[in-house]
Amino acid sequence: MIGSVLAPASPGEMLRLVRTGRAVTRTQLVTATGLSRSTVMHRVGALLSAGLLVEGARPDGSGGGRPPATLALNAGLGVVLAADLGAQHGRLAVCDLEGEALAEREEPIHIADGPDAVLDWVGRTFDALLAEAGRHDADVLAVGIDVPGPVDVERGRPVSPPIMPGWDDHPVADRLAERYPGALVRLERDVQAMALAEHRRHHSLLRDMVFVKVATGIGAGIIADGEVLQGSHGRAGDIGHIRSIEPSEVLCSCGNHGCVAALASGSALVRRLKEAGYAVESSLDVVELVKAGDAVATHHVRDAGRLLGAALAALVSVVAPSLVVVGGDLADASEPLLAGIRESVYERCSPRSTQELRILSSRLRERAGVVGAATLALEHMLAPAAVDARLARRGVAA
Ligand SMILES: [Zn+2]
Repeated sequence: MIGSVLAPASPGEMLRLVRTGRAVTRTQLVTATGLSRSTVMHRVGALLSAGLLVEGARPDGSGGGRPPATLALNAGLGVVLAADLGAQHGRLAVCDLEGEALAEREEPIHIADGPDAVLDWVGRTFDALLAEAGRHDADVLAVGIDVPGPVDVERGRPVSPPIMPGWDDHPVADRLAERYPGALVRLERDVQAMALAEHRRHHSLLRDMVFVKVATGIGAGIIADGEVLQGSHGRAGDIGHIRSIEPSEVLCSCGNHGCVAALASGSALVRRLKEAGYAVESSLDVVELVKAGDAVATHHVRDAGRLLGAALAALVSVVAPSLVVVGGDLADASEPLLAGIRESVYERCSPRSTQELRILSSRLRERAGVVGAATLALEHMLAPAAVDARLARRGVAA
């Protein structure tokens, strides 16, 4: 589709038109931007010489006559590093500029070991993955990292994250920026990254969507009008610490009693099943029991879904999304979990707000976080203003 954009389009904006497929030849760029052909030629030339664009195949395949060559983002110009840090495991990847993983690895970690131990592991693992992908530190153009707690996105630091002792105000983004000089580093709350990934990869035509993560903790990421809703310190969608509809004195990691996370998260289910006499240690053990058809575990997971659904109903009423995606470790026990969530949401929301609402499990599953971390780093690195600044540094006038 060729639509006109607000002129004058900078080189960065032209790169975005190409990247999103809205204009992929010089002629289409002239039409889309309203700029003169000579200006378009000049700016495309700047993007080509900076290595950001490459000339692709000629649409008719002939190479003869004067058919227009298509332009494309040069996905191999460099790499993006992505890190998805959970409470109990971390998944890291080296990706090309289309966000496709060239090398990827998941390992158990303990986020509670603190930033020094965890970020050392991140550095060592990135080294190994870069070697596996045949790339070097100098190829790293951007780094995206997400953590299971609130963050100050501007400063790149966690802010009083309940399940991350020792991480409060730690300069996570600065440490990575030191390691990869010149790379853009972006730190984000995990659920925002996951919401972004599911949206961009599978539901990009939807304006409004909610992603709920059910793992050691509980949180939601909100896509409003196509973009991630941050809220103060990335706290938008922090439904885990809403007080549950079921009165309870169970102490939550945040210090309050009876939060949804204290009753319906993976760690809450582990506690509940231990009390029922089961030998379980993690969300994955709970999922195994559900998959094996254990009636008690299935009951507890459905009940957790019901409690979570009650908090989610409020969010659905406020945001009015057309889709809720449920992800995180527990989403692998999706049938009883989704059944419980649906039961509460449809019971508590007005029929009008749920008329077109779908509630589905995550399609990216355990890769949602790492894909999201790569996506958010790429979106910032390839944002028109960032591209224009990159060209300016090379001495190319916009
Ligand atoms: Zn809490």
